[in-house]
Amino acid sequence: MSEAQKWHALQGVEALRVLESDKDQGLTTEVAQGRLETYGYNELKERPPISFWQRLWEQLTGFIVLILIVAAIISAALGDWIEAIVIMAIVVLNAAVGIIQESKAEEALAALKKMAAPEAHVLRDGHRIVVPSRELVPGDIVLLEAGNVVPADLRLLESMNLKIEEASLTGESLPVNKHAEETLSEEASLGDRRNSAYMSTLISYGRGTGLVVATGMQTEIGNIAEMLQSFEEEQTPLQRKLDQLGKMLGIASLIICGLVFLVGLVRDPSFSVLLTDGLAAYFAVAKDTIVELFMIAVGLAIAAVPEGLAAIVTVCLALGMREMVNRHALIRRLPAVETLGSATVICSDKTGTLTQNEMTVVRAWAAGREYEITGKGYEPKGNFLSDKVEVNVEDHPVLAQTLWAGLLCNDAVLEKDERVVGGYRMVGDPTEGSLVVAAAKAGYWTDRFTQLFPRVSEIPFDSDRKRMTTIHDVQKAAEVHPDLYPTNEAYYAAVVKGAPDLVLDQCAMMRTEAGLVPLTPAQREEIMGANAAMASQALRVLAVAYRPLASVPEEPTPEDVERDLVFVGLLGMIDPARQEVVPAVRKARGAGLRTIMVTGDYAATAEAIGREIGILRPEGRVISGQTLEEMSDEQLQEEISSIDVFARVAPNHKVRIVEALRARDHVVAMTGDGVNDAPALKRADIGVAMGITGTDVSKQAADMVLTDDNYVSIVSAIEQGRIIYSNIRKFVYFLISCNMAEIAIIFIATLLGWPSPLTVIQLLWLNLLSDGAPALALGLEKGDPDIMERAPRPPKEPVINRDMIAGVVVQTVAITAAVLLAYWRGMTAFAAQAGSDPTRTAETMAFVTLVLSELLRAYTARSERLPLLKLGVFSNKWMQYAVGFSIVLLLVVVYVPFLQPIFNTIPLNLEEWTLILPLILIPSLAAEMQKVLSRK
Ligand code: ATP
Repeated sequence: MSEAQKWHALQGVEALRVLESDKDQGLTTEVAQGRLETYGYNELKERPPISFWQRLWEQLTGFIVLILIVAAIISAALGDWIEAIVIMAIVVLNAAVGIIQESKAEEALAALKKMAAPEAHVLRDGHRIVVPSRELVPGDIVLLEAGNVVPADLRLLESMNLKIEEASLTGESLPVNKHAEETLSEEASLGDRRNSAYMSTLISYGRGTGLVVATGMQTEIGNIAEMLQSFEEEQTPLQRKLDQLGKMLGIASLIICGLVFLVGLVRDPSFSVLLTDGLAAYFAVAKDTIVELFMIAVGLAIAAVPEGLAAIVTVCLALGMREMVNRHALIRRLPAVETLGSATVICSDKTGTLTQNEMTVVRAWAAGREYEITGKGYEPKGNFLSDKVEVNVEDHPVLAQTLWAGLLCNDAVLEKDERVVGGYRMVGDPTEGSLVVAAAKAGYWTDRFTQLFPRVSEIPFDSDRKRMTTIHDVQKAAEVHPDLYPTNEAYYAAVVKGAPDLVLDQCAMMRTEAGLVPLTPAQREEIMGANAAMASQALRVLAVAYRPLASVPEEPTPEDVERDLVFVGLLGMIDPARQEVVPAVRKARGAGLRTIMVTGDYAATAEAIGREIGILRPEGRVISGQTLEEMSDEQLQEEISSIDVFARVAPNHKVRIVEALRARDHVVAMTGDGVNDAPALKRADIGVAMGITGTDVSKQAADMVLTDDNYVSIVSAIEQGRIIYSNIRKFVYFLISCNMAEIAIIFIATLLGWPSPLTVIQLLWLNLLSDGAPALALGLEKGDPDIMERAPRPPKEPVINRDMIAGVVVQTVAITAAVLLAYWRGMTAFAAQAGSDPTRTAETMAFVTLVLSELLRAYTARSERLPLLKLGVFSNKWMQYAVGFSIVLLLVVVYVPFLQPIFNTIPLNLEEWTLILPLILIPSLAAEMQKVLSRK
């Protein structure tokens, strides 16, 4: 294949020849494998990943690290080598942990991206299969339908009303009509190449088949790929707020540090030397004071900034997203994790989301007679009964024609597959699949019928029209079955199937056993009665009709084809509710979440299902799309709280429903699967697409994709969202109160004229290691057991709300008091003892009290509301590991001799331990008491 091949200037057959492919068979698996090795994966190269050095650079240029490096340099310059080395070692360790955390989080996100990768329907070895789009190779035959993203560059071989939106490539926002048959001049510009389709453009209408001519970076979009980055790396609102908080604390601490430093200098007696003898003399006498004050200032800066916060948030979000994937919810945009936690309404489709989407036709109505159809699943075995008596379909020509029509106006394929239960597998829309199965039960199979009635054109299904039409050449059939096609002058027939009321509106005649008769109002009523009877049993009902045509319009439109129809019959299919949905709806309600069913199906069907699964409350209303249309926006907002089911809706109604709910301050999750659902998904706070049955277009518009199409997964994602948010709150609270207490300790000690009880190295050690581990464990909490028994959090509430501020204040006071008391006891109790060093003892006691009280407090921080004893003290194993790790670290720095000078510690004896043990309990007790009080 030459590089500059102008595929649009070739005929389809020529292109097939050049690429050695076959339109009906596709490539063989073997050839495809070989080509994959030659051409590589069909993917666009992403921006090169951030390198190790870049990450290191980012870590080392952080605000706090820079301060530390300066501190280390000064220590070294003053000859305090040990301190300099320890500070640098902690900096390096911190950078290493940061880099590992970051790349782990990124790996997790990349893995999620991969899972969201699109798939393509291709012909291989003569079979239609689904492969990941990245495995496409030149020569593959790809099947396209509305809602797909074009997976590679294609020379079209077939097009049925195909319209493609190419804005991403040409900037043209209106969909372009495609015609496979055309051959164009070599010079045709990209926007004019109507016989080709290009990677990453969107199919907005119709169907087609295309030959892959270019993949990956060889595609047109590949040529401009450097300009594109499909996945935006977004920060969540919470991350942004915490970033801001971190900066604010940084600046505030800098100011306080500066103040402490200056005040210290001025208050020192040597300051007068500066005024009298000048700078040089001053430095000579005040060198030690300056260094000491500088170190205190550095200590304050370190104490103020919650170093681990940002990294732990990222890790927590990434792990939370992974947990959501385990529960079948794939998050496409990080901020959705947080929004999920504050959702108040779930608007859910019915078919497939609340029901199993395993349709089986169980009823039919034709020529005034009702039939029952037996059998289960996709196995084409079952009987037809009328009045409980088995009948032969051949003796009931209108029933037969009803089944034929359902089989012809159909894109689903029933394939024999020994590996599945029942021996058959369905490819395509389950609604259509059920019609194929019903027809097969009477001995009518797709193969024979597509030969007998070749399809020459079609108007695809869309959820606004709620019907679908195929146009067939009926000449051959008329020869074989003259009784069924007595229309001498018509060579074609349009077969229509769709929502009964809408199809019936377009009918003028009706088939009876006696032949064609004009449709009277009484007959219309009878048909709608039969429809209502089936719908009230929760059946989805489709009507079938046809129209003889003398010729096939060049571009058939619904307006000129779907009218003057001949009504044939009704088919009623059962789609059982998912059993697990019932408890999930109840759980959602308990969590203050409303569920609203928004379905394209008939009101009576929706109502029956709604009652069965508990979405429709006794006092709740069912509103149809038509009624909705007659309501003003204000009226809808007024009444929406009483409406549980919207039936017969079109996709644009979904947008109105979202807007009405949002106007009432709801946070809305809305599901959707079709091309036309994209606007509603974008407008919703959380757009939810279906992973199995959803179109690519809806997935691209969504914030979250359900990998099992199940309503239950929405509820568990919301639960997970709440858990993640509350966990983030827990460690934010934990870390910030630790930092505040550290500042207060140093600050008050300085004011009291005491030497600083905590050294720079201790503070670093505490913030980066000892506090970091339990904070991470808080991020891994399983969530309060009653998390789904509470109302959703108000979406506008800041993370650091009043409760948290109160908690931080109480903790700051409690920890500061405990630590300063320990210090004071240490100074006074052992001052008189011979051979003791009261300052070192006091400093060690203060340090140990601080570390242990925080570790103990981490346990109470595991729930903001529930008492620890109720939560179960040991129910988070990570906490045991984290606290165990930190205690070992503490014992090491207190008892290992060579570390003692570095950490400014001495080994404590039993007497000293008994003095501090009660103090250690103060902060935790204060926290537990606060929980009790705030619950009252
Ligand atoms: P939900 O929105 O809850 O998933 P739905 O699947 O019924 O419900 P749509 O797919 O928009 O929603 O279908 C709307 C209506 O169109 C259906 O109730 C049915 O009457 C009709 N319909 C569905 N599928 C087809 C089809 N393949 N061909 C013709 N008509 C169809």
